[in-house]
Amino acid sequence: MNKTDNKKHLVFHVEESHEDYCHMCQQLGEPQFGVKMHRSLPTDTRWVRMVMNDDAPKFSVLCGDCIYEAYHSDGVDQVMENGKAWLPSKSGMMFIRTSKIED
Ligand SMILES: [Zn+2]
Repeated sequence: MNKTDNKKHLVFHVEESHEDYCHMCQQLGEPQFGVKMHRSLPTDTRWVRMVMNDDAPKFSVLCGDCIYEAYHSDGVDQVMENGKAWLPSKSGMMFIRTSKIED
């Protein structure tokens, strides 16, 4: 993804926890986003409000690992929680796929 070609600005807002499967990596059927985790894994999932520019926000339920991947992804500009920058090491979230957490 080339950021200079468009002016998309995507911000993730981590909100309250939600006991559901991660929409990204625990969907049934074929994996759509690469990694797939078994549904028996006790993922720590949160509502995530995804805001692209001035578009209406989209909501998804994501596990700590997927939020972590978004945090380090070029496609996501910022991850926020309670109006502050979300930091993996300070998030208190559980990460299963990621063994070495880097902020
Ligand atoms: Zn996930």
